Amino acid sequence: MTVKQFQAESKRLLDLMVNSIYTHKEIFLRELISNASDAIDKIYYKALTDESLHFNKEDYFIRVEVDKPNRLLKIIDTGIGMTSTEMEENLGVIAKSGSFAFKKENELKDGFDIIGQFGVGFYSAFMVADVVTVISRALGSDRAYKWESKGAEGYTIEPWTKATVGTEVILKIKANTDDENYDEFLEEYRIKSIIKKYSDFIRYPIKMDVTKS
Ligand code: ADP
Ligand code: MG
Repeated sequence: MTVKQFQAESKRLLDLMVNSIYTHKEIFLRELISNASDAIDKIYYKALTDESLHFNKEDYFIRVEVDKPNRLLKIIDTGIGMTSTEMEENLGVIAKSGSFAFKKENELKDGFDIIGQFGVGFYSAFMVADVVTVISRALGSDRAYKWESKGAEGYTIEPWTKATVGTEVILKIKANTDDENYDEFLEEYRIKSIIKKYSDFIRYPIKMDVTKS
């Protein structure tokens, strides 16, 4: 399988994220949940004008799963999904929110918390994960694809199977280092409090199963 290269700008943002010393790494979850919510919004708005599409409220939600033994954190949505072309176009480029361009101009001016204030988008996942996998099936398609990246060296896209429309973002959480604690992102109570802090306003249910112990 061929490894595709990120665009130069994307690669720079990626490097920034991978090597981030930013103290509020937890905001990656806000970014991924907001993407999941945007994806559900897209179906919602489509359903307003598309008679063949019915938006049944209970079918649309975001689910967060922790698989501690395998160090995986999953953010699952029943949103509009992505085709392989959309994966290529949307995940291979820097956040459209333009925060990166903004950051360059205002870099650390007055210690202003740019990352915290503005979205850095999908790539913020690389602050906490050393492998990011996106499995997605687009609305109207019976095909699914897996996008995967270990960071700056590039990404792969291959056909995959997925029974339902939507997207799963799977993060392989980094191992702890002497200076950084990543294990906390595999603790359900910690994840819940991050969701409460940053994603309380999201208008779709955010579900999280509690592990029986
Ligand atoms: P932004 O949200 O500002 O556009 P991001 O970096 O957060 O930038 O996301 C880039 C793009 O990737 C999104 O605009 C969207 O097209 C796509 N994307 C990311 N996550 C999802 C998802 N869960 N479902 C569908 N598309 C997604
Ligand atoms: Mg986003």
